[in-house]
Amino acid sequence: MTVSLNIAANNSNAPVVAVTAQRGVAAEKPNLIGLAREEMIEALVEAGVPERQAKMRVQQIWYWLYVRGVSNFDNMTNLSKTLRGELAERFSLERPEILEEQISVDGTRKWLFRFPPRGAGAPVDIETVYIPEEGRGTLCVSSQVGCTLSCTFCHTGTQRLVRNLTPEEIVMQVLVARERLGDFPDKETPPGTYVPSEGRLVTNVVMMGMGEPLYNFDHVKQALLIVSDGDGLALSKRRITLSTSGHVPNIQRTGDEIGVSLAISLHAVRDELRDELVPINKKWNIAALLEACRNYPGASNARRITFEYVMLKGINDSLEDAVKLVRLLKGIPAKINLIPFNPWPNSPYECSEWEQIEAFAEIVNRAGYASPIRTPRGRDIFAACGQLKSESERMKKRDRDALESAPVPGS
Ligand code: SAH
Ligand code: SF4
Repeated sequence: MTVSLNIAANNSNAPVVAVTAQRGVAAEKPNLIGLAREEMIEALVEAGVPERQAKMRVQQIWYWLYVRGVSNFDNMTNLSKTLRGELAERFSLERPEILEEQISVDGTRKWLFRFPPRGAGAPVDIETVYIPEEGRGTLCVSSQVGCTLSCTFCHTGTQRLVRNLTPEEIVMQVLVARERLGDFPDKETPPGTYVPSEGRLVTNVVMMGMGEPLYNFDHVKQALLIVSDGDGLALSKRRITLSTSGHVPNIQRTGDEIGVSLAISLHAVRDELRDELVPINKKWNIAALLEACRNYPGASNARRITFEYVMLKGINDSLEDAVKLVRLLKGIPAKINLIPFNPWPNSPYECSEWEQIEAFAEIVNRAGYASPIRTPRGRDIFAACGQLKSESERMKKRDRDALESAPVPGS
C-alpha cells in the first residue's frame, strides 16, 4: 500500500493531515485478520498446508500478524519462501484506506477509515480515536457504521445503521492505529521476540466509538477475543471496556463469553426521562438494567462497572438527580463518569454549566466515587464522545466553525 501525506491547513490550531492510500490489487482475496485461530487453521488446510503442520503455522503467522504487526507475507521471515508465496497468492493482509488522520491540539488523534464493500454493499467509512494520557493510551473503537438506536444527545444516533462491522474491521482499527502510532516493534527485532506490555502506546481499548456493540455481539466477541489473545496483541481484558446503552440479555453474555470490563450509558435516573434520552430503555428499563449489572460476572470492588452520565443542561443535571443516582447504584461495584455534553451541529441540548457539573460531582464524590468528571478530549477535531459520524454525512465546514466557538467546561 502506498501512502501519501498532505498537510492541509484548517482554521483551528489543530493540524489536519489527510492521508490518501492507494489500495493494492489484492483486495478481493480473503483477509487473514479477524479470523479465529480455528478458522485460520481451516483456511490454511484448504489452501494446501498439511493438516499436521497447520496449527504450528497458524501460531507462527499469528505472531507476525499480532505481535509484530506485519502487513506483508514477505516479512514473515521464519516461514519458507514457498509458503510465503502461496499465502500471498491466496490471502490478503490489506489494510483499510486511511481517508483522514487528524491530530488535536491535545494530542488526541482521529482516523477516518474506509473499508471495502462486503458482498453487494458499498464501501463504508468509520472513525477511530486515540486518546493519550499520562501513563496510558486509550483507543476508542467503533462496532457499527451508524447505530440502530437513536439516543437524542448522540451524533451517531442521527445516522441510520449502515451495517455491522466484521471482526476483521474491528481488529483492523487496533492494528492500523498502532501502525500509525509506531507502536509495533521495528523490523530488526529478532523473530520470536515477545514484546512486553509496558511501554506501549495503546494500553487500553474502549468499545465507545460508533455503534452499539451489543447489537453486533458475535463479531465484537470474536474481535475482542483476538485483541486479548495472550500470544498476539495481548491486551488484558481488564483494559478492554465495552460500553452499552443497555442491551440487557447480552450484558450477561458479555461477562460470560468475553470477560471484558463493562460500562453502562445510564444518563438518567428516572424511566420517563431515560425513555426519551436512551430509547432502548423502553425495552429494558432502569430496574432491569441495574439487575443485569448486579449479576455481571466478574464485577467486584477491584473490577467495577463504569456508569456514564452525560451532563445536559436543565435536563438531567439537578442535584436531586445526583442524590438519586448514588442511591440507585448502591450495592453495585461502580465507578461514575460524568461526561460534559459534547455538542454537534443542531444538537438539541446544551452542556450543563461548569458550576452545576461540579456541584453534581460533589454529591457523587461524597458518596465515595473519586474524580468522576471526564475531561472532553479532541473536541477541536470532533473526536469527543458522541461526535463521531461517518463520511456519508460529513460535517459541513460552516457547522464545524460554529461549533469550534462552543465553550469547553472547566477551561
Ligand atoms: N453505543 C454505546 C457505545 C458508544 S457511545 C453506548 O451508547 O454506550 C460512547 C459513550 O458516549 C456513551 O456513554 C454515550 O452515551 C456517550 N455520548 C454519546 N453522545 C455524546 C455526546 N454528545 N456528548 C457526550 N457523551 C456522549
Ligand atoms: Fe447508539 Fe450509543 Fe449513540 Fe445511543 S449513545 S445512538 S447506543 S452510539
